[in-house]
Amino acid sequence: MKYALISVWDKTDLEKLCNKIINKGYTLLATSSTAKYLKEKGFEVKETSELTGFSELIGGRVKTLHPKIFAGILARRDNPKDMEDLKKENIPLIDIVVCNLYPFQQVIKNKNTTLEEALENIDIGGVSLLRAAAKNFPFVLVVPSPKYYDEVINYLEKEDNGLEFRRRMAIKAFSITSTYDNAIMNYLAQTFEDVISLNLTKKLDLRYGENPQQKAGFYTLNDEDLPFIQYQGKELSYNNLLDTDSAWNLIKEFDEPTVAIIKHNNPCGVASDNDSLKAFIKAFESDPVSAYGGIVACNFEIDENVAKEITKHFFEVIVAPSYKEEALKVFSQKKNLRVLKYREDIPENPFEIRSLRRGVLVQSFNDILFDNYEVKTSAKPTQKDMEELIFALKVVKHVKSNAIVVSKDKQTLGIGAGQMNRVNAVKIALEQAGEKAKEAYLASDAFFPFPDSIELAAKYGIKAIIQPGGSIRDNEVIEAAEKNNLILVMISSRHFRH
Ligand code: 5GP
Repeated sequence: MKYALISVWDKTDLEKLCNKIINKGYTLLATSSTAKYLKEKGFEVKETSELTGFSELIGGRVKTLHPKIFAGILARRDNPKDMEDLKKENIPLIDIVVCNLYPFQQVIKNKNTTLEEALENIDIGGVSLLRAAAKNFPFVLVVPSPKYYDEVINYLEKEDNGLEFRRRMAIKAFSITSTYDNAIMNYLAQTFEDVISLNLTKKLDLRYGENPQQKAGFYTLNDEDLPFIQYQGKELSYNNLLDTDSAWNLIKEFDEPTVAIIKHNNPCGVASDNDSLKAFIKAFESDPVSAYGGIVACNFEIDENVAKEITKHFFEVIVAPSYKEEALKVFSQKKNLRVLKYREDIPENPFEIRSLRRGVLVQSFNDILFDNYEVKTSAKPTQKDMEELIFALKVVKHVKSNAIVVSKDKQTLGIGAGQMNRVNAVKIALEQAGEKAKEAYLASDAFFPFPDSIELAAKYGIKAIIQPGGSIRDNEVIEAAEKNNLILVMISSRHFRH
């Protein structure tokens, strides 16, 4: 009797594979839910509990963890003593192990997952099955993901000795279990000291770094895949990747259709609109001069109309969660344009890591906009005013400090970025907005140290300001807003971006 053990969470294409396995003369051996599923599909299956003589214990935490299973996988087929042991204990050989794991990584993505639920989703037996089968690859085939079923079917068909193929599958299996354990480690890590290793794997050779004299590459943590798919266009550069990441993080702040255009790691135009075409046009018109050669990020599927509008201008990169077929056709006329789909199924890095010349800095991501706010003036914001202020605040969070954003109708009108004093950032943003600053909104990434910025904003006709509090001169700032009939909202979180 030749056995194939099937124990899978993800049942994609399982029947296709099992048909082939049976066709090759194997008997299917499966854990309870997998067995139930296969029986419903008409397969003849033996349950692992029949072999071990134990029904699954302690709520399924122990299903396959049994000598009768593991000796059948791990036995060296060319070692007489191993084979004798099996014979003595009446243990059958298991030559194929098809296993994929409880979806721990997906479960912890949900912010409401409790520790108990997370722990329950740590697969123990499955990891052991994969590792045992992979260790014994000279004799055993491990199939660690539905991704490889087609190749496996092909391999079973050919029935060559197949050592190289089994070795390749073993490598995949160990890569899956090590990524899995890393995800668990990072989830349980409460402090940075708990993060023992940063396991980096090169995924892309880059032509050069920020400048041609600098060498560079793109690496992922824990051997994750590239977080994007490139449909077309020139090779991605270091600066493209840096700016694309900033663009993506910015648009992910928004639920409604939003477009951000990034230059040199700062947004030059951001807009939201229920109509996605309008969102792009508004973002572009924020600052058409700076938008030239920028990176465009959309938080919605790009259709033909938006694609046509985008291709009227010169951009380096387009990034979106997905594209309509016709949109890709439109882009294909612009051979050099890099068109990327961002892959949100790839886990985020556990922490933000920045390198210094000596050593690295590690911090958690800035994922909070604010916990609470207070209106500090007698002029109060309407709900629409608050929405407009929050739009400006979401943008300013992604602008290099000192940062000021002036916006209206959910469209940026002026952005003051990376200034060494706050009042200069205010000046730049207001000057750029000009006449349009009348009745517009202003957000600041950190508190105003002096009332001068408020007076300047009032001169331009700004209606409302949102800023973190915390200056020793907060009172003077509030007074200036009051005197000028401005609405002033203070929030609890600062958003420095150095
Ligand atoms: P089933 O849904 O067929 O009952 O179980 C399949 C899942 O159980 C697979 O994802 C597999 O990785 C996992 N698994 C296999 N053996 C064991 C075990 O002994 N303990 C635990 N906790 N999971 C197991």
